Amino acid sequence: MRRDHHVLALAVSGVHQLIINNKLLQYTSPMLWLHHPVSLLLICTLVLLGVLRSFSAPEPLAADAPDVEFSALRSEAILRDILQDGVPHVAGSPANLVVRNRIISHLEASGYQVEIQSRFHCNPLFGACSPVDNLIAVKPGSSAKNAVLLTAHYDSGWTGPGAADDAAGTAAVLEIARMTADFPAFKNDIIFLLSDSEENGLIGADAFAQFDPLFTKVKVVINLEARGTTGSSALFETGNGNRGIIRMFSKNVDRPVANSLVNEIYKRMPNDTDYTVYKRKGVMGLNFAFSQGVAVYHSAIDDPDHLDIGSLQHHGDNAWSMMKALADRDLDHIISPEDAGYIDIFASRLLHYPSSIVLGLSLVLGVWVLIAIGIAFGKDLRFWQLRWGLLIIPFLLGSIVLGGYLLSFPLGHWPDLHPIEHPYPWVGRLALFGVAVLSLFTTLKLFTDRVSPGAMMLLCWGLIILAGMVLVNKLPTAGHIALVPLAMFAIGSVIDVFRKKSPVPLLMASVLGFAGTSFISFYHYFMLDVVLNFDKSQFKIIPLAFMTLMVLPMLLAAVRDRELSWQPARWLLVAILLACLVHLSLPGFTPDRPRGMTLMYSEVEGSETAYIVLESLVTGFDEDYADGHGFKPVELDNGRSRASESPARAVPALNLPGVEVKVHSVRQEEMGWSHRFVLRAPESVEYLLMVIAKESLLDKAWVDGQLALDTSLESKHQRQADTLRLVNPDKSSFEIRLLTRSPDALSLAVVTWHELPKLLVAPFMRNWPEDAQAMEYGPRARKVQHITLDAGE
Ligand SMILES: [Zn+2]
Repeated sequence: MRRDHHVLALAVSGVHQLIINNKLLQYTSPMLWLHHPVSLLLICTLVLLGVLRSFSAPEPLAADAPDVEFSALRSEAILRDILQDGVPHVAGSPANLVVRNRIISHLEASGYQVEIQSRFHCNPLFGACSPVDNLIAVKPGSSAKNAVLLTAHYDSGWTGPGAADDAAGTAAVLEIARMTADFPAFKNDIIFLLSDSEENGLIGADAFAQFDPLFTKVKVVINLEARGTTGSSALFETGNGNRGIIRMFSKNVDRPVANSLVNEIYKRMPNDTDYTVYKRKGVMGLNFAFSQGVAVYHSAIDDPDHLDIGSLQHHGDNAWSMMKALADRDLDHIISPEDAGYIDIFASRLLHYPSSIVLGLSLVLGVWVLIAIGIAFGKDLRFWQLRWGLLIIPFLLGSIVLGGYLLSFPLGHWPDLHPIEHPYPWVGRLALFGVAVLSLFTTLKLFTDRVSPGAMMLLCWGLIILAGMVLVNKLPTAGHIALVPLAMFAIGSVIDVFRKKSPVPLLMASVLGFAGTSFISFYHYFMLDVVLNFDKSQFKIIPLAFMTLMVLPMLLAAVRDRELSWQPARWLLVAILLACLVHLSLPGFTPDRPRGMTLMYSEVEGSETAYIVLESLVTGFDEDYADGHGFKPVELDNGRSRASESPARAVPALNLPGVEVKVHSVRQEEMGWSHRFVLRAPESVEYLLMVIAKESLLDKAWVDGQLALDTSLESKHQRQADTLRLVNPDKSSFEIRLLTRSPDALSLAVVTWHELPKLLVAPFMRNWPEDAQAMEYGPRARKVQHITLDAGE
C-alpha cells in the first residue's frame, strides 16, 4: 500500500499499518508526531469526547448523599409523589388542585408557611386568562432588603403529566427548599415560587410580578425549565448586563454548561418561559433548561419514567449552587454595565470575557497570528500561490455544504422523521463526518502542490480573522467562535519560538489552533443538532466545515510532493453510502421518541358536516394509518384567519353547545370604538378562544374589567390575528370589552373545546401506531363559531 492510500482513509486501512508505513517515522523529534494525520484525528476525537460531556447529564446522587448536596434521587421521590396520578393538570383543572395540595404538603413538611396567591388573572402580553394558584414560601434573610427568587412552574400542558416540563423544576425547587430550611439565615431573602399557568401564557408569573408585594424585593431570578426529557441543564438565557453573574456562575457551579451564542439566539426566537415576565421588568436572572428528547416534550409520555434523572441532578446542582452564592451577595449591583461572552469547556470550566474587550482582543490576536505566519513562511510566500488558495477555500466549503445537502435526502427526506430529533442519530452523524473528510480529501487530491502550506495557512487564518471581526462587530458575545482558535494558535506560536529549528514551522501553533477549531466546530455541531434534524443536513454540517478548513494547511504539508490516489475517496464514499443505507433502516420514531398524533373532532356552527381530524402538531402523521382509516386532506376552518389542511373524515355534526353574545353595545370613545358585550360560554368549558381579525385594528381587550390583551406590548411572537384565551374559567359568563380603531362591524371567531366523545373515535383507535402519542392539545372536540358584532352609529 502506498502512503497516500491511507493518509485519510482511516476507516479502511488499519491505524497500525499506517504508522509502520509512514515516512514521518524518519523525523527525529517526537513532537513532530503531533503533525501526523493520525495524531490530528486523535486530537479531534478527544475534543469530540470532551464536547459530548457538555451535552450529557451527570450521574444522579444517591438518596443517602449528605444533606448539603443536591440528590436527584431524593428529588425524584418528591416528583413521583406529586405526579402520582399520572394525568395532565392544566391550570384551573381539578387535577391541578390535587398537585397544588401535594406541593403545599411538601413545603409545610419542610417547615414553611405557604402563601397561596389565588386569583383569576390575565397576561395582557399574550391575551391569556386563567385561574392562578401561585405557591410561595420564604426563607427570611438577615438584611431582609433584597431577595433571590427560585422558581419553576407546576402546571402541565394539555397532554401528559409534564414530568420534565416542569415537575422536574418543581421537584428540584422543593428539595432545595427543604435543604435550605436547615441553613442559618442568609443575607437575602430566598423566595421559592411554584408558579401556576405558565403553559397558558406565563399567567402565574405575571400575577406574581404584578400583585405580590414580595416581588419588589426580587433582584435576581433562577428559573428551571425543560424543552425535552434528557441532556445537560444548560444556562440558556440571562438578563441583560450579565457580566457579574456570569463570573459568579463560573466560580460557583461545578459543571457549567453555557454558550452566550445560545442566549443571543434565544432572544430572537419566539419562545418564552416565566423568566420572560421578570426579564421584561429588568430583573437579572439565570434560566436553565435541558433540551434533548424533544419528541417527548408536551406529549402523553412526559412522565416520571421517561425523565432522565441525571438531568434533574444537573438542574438541582445548578440551582442549589447559584442560590447559595446569590443568597449572601450584595444584590444591588447584580446588573453589570456590560454583557459577557462565554462558553463552557467540556462542562468543566466556563471561559468568559467582557464584551468590551472583544474587538481589541481579536485585533491583537489577529495581528499576532498574521505576523507569526509571515515570519515562519515569509520567504516562500508567492502571489500565485494565494490565487489558487482563493479557489480552494470556496471549493472545500462548497463541497461540504453540497455533500450535506445531498445526504439530507437519504438521511432526512425519505424516512419518516421528527422535524428536530432522531432517536438513533449516530449513524447519520458519522455519515456527515464522512462527507466532511471526503470533501477534505478531494480538495487535497485536486490541489496538492498548487498551493504551499504556508500560503494556505495565511489564507485560512486570514479568513478566520476577517470573519471574526465581522462577527464581533455584530455579536460581541459570540466572539469566542473566532477568539478560541486564534488564542490557541497564538499560544502555540509562543511554544514554537522556544522549539529548535524544525522542518515543520509553526507546528504547535497549527496543532493547538486545530484543537481550538475542533472544539468550536463540535460544540456548535451538537448545539445545532438539538434543533435540526437530518433533513437540514446542509446546515447541520456547516460547523464541521470550520475545522476542515483549519486542518487543510497541515494536511497539504503532509502530502506535499506525493501523488494521491482516488482509492481512499472511493472507500470513504462506500462507507458513507453504507451509513446512509443503515440509517434508512433505522426508525424515525419509536415508542420512547414518539410522533405526535391526536384525534380531534371539529365542527363549524351552521354546517351539518363535521370532521374527525388526525392532528399532528409538531411531527408528521403516520400515512399508513391515515390511509387505512380513510383520512383524506381537507381544508378545515380552525377559527383563525388561515384555513389549514389536515387529514380528516367527514361525520354528521354533533351540534355542540357554543357561546352566546348578549347585550352588545358600541360607543365611540376618544381612543376608538368600544364594543361591550356579555359572553355566555357553555357550562364548564375548558378552553375558549376568541379570534379578532387584524383588520379590526384591536387595541386592547378587557375581561370583567381586567386588562386581558394589549396589542401595543411588543412580544417575541408575530401575531397572525389577535386572540383572547380563557382557560378553565371558574364561571361561564363574562363581560368583554374590545377597543378597536376601526368603525366597521367586528368579525369574531370563537373556538371552544369540549370533551371528545369516546364512542365517536373508538373505531379509529384500532391499529393506533405504537410509535404515536397524543401531543400538545390532545384529544378534544372543537366548535368554531363566526360572530359579527354590529358597527357603531
Ligand atoms: Zn415549561
